[in-house]
Amino acid sequence: MTQPTSEQLFERAQQHIPGGVNSPVRAFKGVGGTPVFFDHAKGAYMFDTQGKRYIDYVLSWGPMILGHNAEPVTQAVHAQIDKAMSFGAPTLLEVEMAEKVCEIIPTIEKVRMVNSGTEATMSAIRLARGHTGRDLLVKFEGCYHGHADSLLIKAGSGALTLGVPTSPGVPASVAKHTITLEYNNIDDVKKCFAELGDQIAAVIVEPVAGNMNCIPPREGFLEALRSVCDESGAILIFDEVMCGFRVALGGAQAHYGVKADLTTLGKVIGGGMPVAAFGGRADIMDSLAPTGPVYQAGTLSGNPVAMAAGLAVLDEISKPGVYEQLTERTTALVSGITNAAKDAGIAMTSNQVGSMFGLFFTDQTSVSSFAETSKCDSNAFNTFFHGMLEEGVYLAPSSYEAGFMSLSHSEQDIDDTVAAATRVLSKMAA
Ligand code: PLP
Repeated sequence: MTQPTSEQLFERAQQHIPGGVNSPVRAFKGVGGTPVFFDHAKGAYMFDTQGKRYIDYVLSWGPMILGHNAEPVTQAVHAQIDKAMSFGAPTLLEVEMAEKVCEIIPTIEKVRMVNSGTEATMSAIRLARGHTGRDLLVKFEGCYHGHADSLLIKAGSGALTLGVPTSPGVPASVAKHTITLEYNNIDDVKKCFAELGDQIAAVIVEPVAGNMNCIPPREGFLEALRSVCDESGAILIFDEVMCGFRVALGGAQAHYGVKADLTTLGKVIGGGMPVAAFGGRADIMDSLAPTGPVYQAGTLSGNPVAMAAGLAVLDEISKPGVYEQLTERTTALVSGITNAAKDAGIAMTSNQVGSMFGLFFTDQTSVSSFAETSKCDSNAFNTFFHGMLEEGVYLAPSSYEAGFMSLSHSEQDIDDTVAAATRVLSKMAA
């Protein structure tokens, strides 16, 4: 039976779904063209409705660290579905999940499950405000923490001016509580805390930024955040929705050795199911209802099918050698592509932390802030993206997104990807 093409489906989707998609970046607005509609996936590959195969480096925006439809996960999900889909009451699986998360990430003494990264960051911020009795939130330009009102804010005209909404619908009265500083700029942070430290409830940061392509923290940046928070009594929130269980089993805080007060998790923790979590110091977490006064809840939070999937993933990634393999394959991919660019005479630089990576079409020698990412050649990226898509390699359809490696990507997949990139880049250079 022939299935409709992506073009036909996109046309149809736009009749009843705003922009034809359920999350904006899927619409290919950044790169142009028609989004690919997928039918099934296995391991490192996704297959579109016409059966074309793509080596996938998006991995559902991070979650599929084992690769698609890994057997331990599908088996756990099938087994749980046969027992029950949802109780809206406590289960053993939730207890096991909480124990496992606290074991893997020692700064998390207590954890609560939610259904999306947005919910996790929104809840962590409310908790930080409720716990400290303060309103101000500090975040960084280029970091994305989901679409809650207090997070859709950009910097005002000066570093210390109050934020401006980035979306209609966010009241100015909400935006005024968010301060947006430059990522990796320690001086900005110190100045801000010198002036407003006693009013700041929390600093939220992606300890490895993955939403302005891939930008690691500069040496000393996370440590500086830790020390201003310690001095001022603000709560340090590491948003590890993307980099948690990804740059290391224990996430960025294990990789860099800096402790967060609260951590938000998502993506990998649900193995492709809608799961996220926030957790941290027990004294802060106990401010949450029902032990404390800060309200937070969810009909499907801790859903047993989702917990079964997540636990299966956490078991797999806890095995020895996982992160060594992921990092090695990512390094091979990134160096293969950057060498191909060099051979073709195309200016490119890269960032990599574990199995998160970013390719930048630029002659800047390093990229460490939103301003520097924005200076990269987006036309070159778009040409590269479409060339790779044609070759059967699926990259994120935006130059502002990090790429990911899975345990299912073989050395052959990497070689095939580098060969494809070599063809595309030499065509671009011609
Ligand atoms: N935080 C980070 C670091 C993210 O990368 C994302 C999503 O990409 C979110 C929060 C929001 O998560 P969700 O899309 O599940 O709401």
